[in-house]
Amino acid sequence: MTQNLLDLDLAGLTTWFGERGEKPFRARQVFHWLHQAGVADFAQMTDIAKSLREKLQQQAVVQAPAISYAHTSTDGTRKWLFDVGVANGIETVFIPEDDRGTLCVSSQVGCALECTFCSTGRQGFNRNLTVAEIIGQLWVAQHSLKTEPNRTTGEISERPVTNVVMMGMGEPLANFENVVTALGIMLDDHAYGLSRRRVTVSTSGLVPAMDRLAERCPVALAVSLHAPNDALRDQIVPINKKYPLAELMAACRRYLVHAPRDFITFEYVMLAGVNDQPEHARQLIALTRDVPCKFNLIPFNPFPDSGYEKPRSEPMRVFREILQDAGYVVTTRKTRGDDIDAACGQLAGKVADKSGRVMKRIHKEAA
Ligand code: SAH
Ligand code: SF4
Repeated sequence: MTQNLLDLDLAGLTTWFGERGEKPFRARQVFHWLHQAGVADFAQMTDIAKSLREKLQQQAVVQAPAISYAHTSTDGTRKWLFDVGVANGIETVFIPEDDRGTLCVSSQVGCALECTFCSTGRQGFNRNLTVAEIIGQLWVAQHSLKTEPNRTTGEISERPVTNVVMMGMGEPLANFENVVTALGIMLDDHAYGLSRRRVTVSTSGLVPAMDRLAERCPVALAVSLHAPNDALRDQIVPINKKYPLAELMAACRRYLVHAPRDFITFEYVMLAGVNDQPEHARQLIALTRDVPCKFNLIPFNPFPDSGYEKPRSEPMRVFREILQDAGYVVTTRKTRGDDIDAACGQLAGKVADKSGRVMKRIHKEAA
């Protein structure tokens, strides 16, 4: 059977090489070629013996998901749509800033958790992404961006992606093993060497999996809170019925014992008239009293028939100030890449309809 080498972390590659009588340092060399040099063609791996290259040629491939569409926004935000099978699309977004480059990565096609304000959730669950499809998003981004000059500085950067956020499509902790393996490759100095503090998993609050992440691969954690009490959260983040807020807050405290940062980021989508009132901000303060945290307020990004509206700026300002006055650090997510629909958290909702209609439209646009 042909092995896709992007599915393997260094330990997996070493085992695979061992089974073929090859030494661990050979696996390391190939791993460097794949992830540091971005080379997919075995013929270009010049310091590898010809006999091994031939063996690889026969038994392995290097296959990242196929790009069906790539677009750059006027503000430099870059979006890729990847084709991951008939009528399935996932999206990846690169957001360049002065001091960093953040890649927003998807973990599943669709999502089973059905948060009511999320277009991915509305579309239902299709399947988990493989390791190769997850790490392949970074592989494509890192190696295509590094050939291009930075739009502000004009410089070519060897490593344009400095930060990864698992905030694209899907619930990363519901695809636990593949996500953890892909995170390991992101952190590995033999591959991308990203710092744990610069890799963030965003979860809607799968409590047992949060504990497992702390044990297996403690990276920065963002928790999608979105409501300050169980009654409201049950409605908009249905997984809350299984893992209610008291359990979620306790899991956050446990996570912090292992976390590379000393705070949790709480994401809070602002839905006009639903969760954006002053009393909600005050309840949040009481709820999170024992959890060192920051808040990231995200204005709702509307989509057709969502039934929700974006909050106006005045209620958002009041909400933010109540939290800030209580001593919280609060950021408001800037909307980037508006013209290419690249806001994190609602990626590909429009392209992954199962009939493939929208996929066809995208292909037509791309052509
Ligand atoms: N499943 C994970 C990660 C993907 S979603 C999670 O829920 O955390 C990334 C973020 O985007 C989450 O905080 C999510 O709640 C938010 N999001 C989803 N739909 C949104 C929308 N329509 N507008 C604004 N943010 C949204
Ligand atoms: Fe899934 Fe996250 Fe969307 Fe909820 S917000 S449906 S967990 S992708």
